Amino acid sequence: MINVALDGPVGAGKSTVARECAKRLGFVYVDTGALYRSCALYCIRNNVDISAANEKAVSELLDGSLDLNFEIIDGVQHVYVNGEDVSDKIRTPEISKAASDVSALTSVRKFLLDRQREIAAKNNVIMDGRDIGTVILPNADLKVFITAKPEVRAKRRYDEFVAKGIETTFEEVLADVNQRDYNDSHRAEAPLRQAEDAVLLDTSELDFEGSVNSLMKLVQGLRKYEK
Ligand code: C5P
Repeated sequence: MINVALDGPVGAGKSTVARECAKRLGFVYVDTGALYRSCALYCIRNNVDISAANEKAVSELLDGSLDLNFEIIDGVQHVYVNGEDVSDKIRTPEISKAASDVSALTSVRKFLLDRQREIAAKNNVIMDGRDIGTVILPNADLKVFITAKPEVRAKRRYDEFVAKGIETTFEEVLADVNQRDYNDSHRAEAPLRQAEDAVLLDTSELDFEGSVNSLMKLVQGLRKYEK
């Protein structure tokens, strides 16, 4: 199996670039953020408060009754919470915030660790997250840390919001990007950082196609890679 670990901050283009590369390579694209989002959704639905002080209850809920699965259908990842496809329901601002809270809990990271490793053991994957190269797949065949300048990432997100008709300002989006960078890299549990053996891919000067080509080249450059 070929395992590619892709980490990086919000707005670096991780998911879109990884999804496209996986499609071209015939690999499974794994969006690990969706797993954290699903745990958050499950806590909210069960009225379990997500906080460090309430970690025991969160952990009991997940261990006790959450059956979390995912499937790739036509190249698109679907996540299932106790059999229900929640793929769209986890893409709300409320869940983004709750996912960030839930991802700071050690027991939740433990709960998801084996699930992520199992997927990578059985498939050629591009796995996208924050701690894939550092914690989940320390022996990945390739580790890439994808990033771009905060202003560039904020501009991309701002353009996405505008395209969706969501009202906001560039300054607001930039402040949010900076805040999320800070939270992701300063949390005690599995903070976002570049693994020592990861290749740095800075997409500040690259468009989508350029970013995809750069990642493709890295994967295809692996000795293990056979087409
Ligand atoms: O990538 P996405 O925005 O969907 O991630 C949702 C939340 O889960 C984020 O707050 C992120 O910090 C967290 N996360 C994480 N580890 C991962 C993937 C996501 O802590 N491997």
